[in-house]
Amino acid sequence: MTLRLYNTLTRRVEPFVPLQPGKVSLYTCGPTIYNYAHIGNFRTFLFEDLLRRWLEASGYDVFHIMNLTDVDDRTIAAAAQKGISLRAHVDPFARAFEEDRDWLRIKPPHEQPRATEYIGPMIELIQGLLDKDVAYVGEDGSVYFAIARFPAYGRLSQLDRRELRAGASQRVSADEYGKEDARDFALWKAASPEEEAVGAAWDAPFGRGRPGWHVECSAMALELIRRHLGTEVLDIHAGGVDLIFPHHEDEIAQSCAYTGRDEFARVWLHGEFLNIRGEKMSKRFGNITTARDLREDGIDPGAVRLLMFQVHYRRQLDLTDEALASAREGSRRLGEFQNRLLASAGAIDAPPLLEAAERLERELAEALDDDLNAPRAVAAMFAFASAGNAALDAGIAAGPRALAAWRRAEGVLAVTSTVQALKVDTSAEPAGGEEVSETPPAGESEEHQRVWAIQWAVRRKKAKTARDFGEADRIRDLLKSAGWGVRDNRDGSIEVVRLGA
Ligand SMILES: [Zn+2]
Repeated sequence: MTLRLYNTLTRRVEPFVPLQPGKVSLYTCGPTIYNYAHIGNFRTFLFEDLLRRWLEASGYDVFHIMNLTDVDDRTIAAAAQKGISLRAHVDPFARAFEEDRDWLRIKPPHEQPRATEYIGPMIELIQGLLDKDVAYVGEDGSVYFAIARFPAYGRLSQLDRRELRAGASQRVSADEYGKEDARDFALWKAASPEEEAVGAAWDAPFGRGRPGWHVECSAMALELIRRHLGTEVLDIHAGGVDLIFPHHEDEIAQSCAYTGRDEFARVWLHGEFLNIRGEKMSKRFGNITTARDLREDGIDPGAVRLLMFQVHYRRQLDLTDEALASAREGSRRLGEFQNRLLASAGAIDAPPLLEAAERLERELAEALDDDLNAPRAVAAMFAFASAGNAALDAGIAAGPRALAAWRRAEGVLAVTSTVQALKVDTSAEPAGGEEVSETPPAGESEEHQRVWAIQWAVRRKKAKTARDFGEADRIRDLLKSAGWGVRDNRDGSIEVVRLGA
């Protein structure tokens, strides 16, 4: 089976075929850093993280771009209100976003362009559209895209042209008098005194001003894929459903009119909304709207990921007190099982766990290949944990295949909570299990690093029990040099901790 994805452009689930075999270019619209990102934004970023991880686990070489919008109406208004420069206002929120992203185990993009660092390519794109006569300078000095001169407009959102006209004319506001047509959107906004005051104005051949939000993504995406991949068409473009119209529709219009190609991205993916509902939720967690609120409440990032992945990305998710509580409980159970599994590692795969491992591998692939069906993938992890616990209870150790199957699933979903204390059955065979490298897995995620550390900690505990103190000390040093500490508890359990954390 191959990966199939729901393409908003065609309204169909289609087999995914990249432009260049084995390579995928992925552009995801990033946050506007005028404030902390909302957990609703992170639901979208988590679905995109799952997409990226599954593409990589399927063997694709992914080139992922996610922008930071550091100049738009909201960032300018927020800076002006504080009376500081745009840069001074957005920088702390850019750092906060990266912290929240890392905490939620979201892989950082390969390129994270900030709009203000790509003003040159934006000016070039706008000039190109003026030269082709699909854009014009309005009476107010701003540059607009002429929708009437781009016949394919509306293809992504499938809005009827008349509907577009009627809808748009209702939204015409006083500051849009400069347009030829109410539907036209700004590519470049003539500088206002407020924008000059916060440092959000740049010189351009068509007048001093600043880019419109839509043109930012087009210019950054095109610049980066040209530079890195030598192409002008993205394989996948993703974002929240609220971006389909007008943002993504406008991105397509600008990009295609500029490059002369009939595609900007071949597959468009959109994640549904997250609703915060439920009386209990608003009473107990009334102030939880950002990722840092969840973190300050002591919630494990694995639980947040599990909560999001228990609903398919194309369905709305209601965040309730009960849903969060049950995700925390489920994620903790998976974390405990993972510790047990790693601690029990044996040298061979016995039938019950071998069968469970094969089933997990098969079900994970079937679920995620089917338009990223995360709820089914998560259910397969729980089924494996339950079969695994039963086998471990019966004294059957987990072999290399069982460990590999689990690591693959957790490597893609990353839904387990960190459970510190780890019980090691030292009566079992001394240091069984697969060969584990003496160096931590290079370039792998934190979850993989942690699994590696636990595997060595278990070997150390067994060496100590066997009174091989030289080996135990050697392993402790090996862990220490990789940034991990190991603690021995009075009850015989051990803990693996990140040093300096
Ligand atoms: Zn965008």
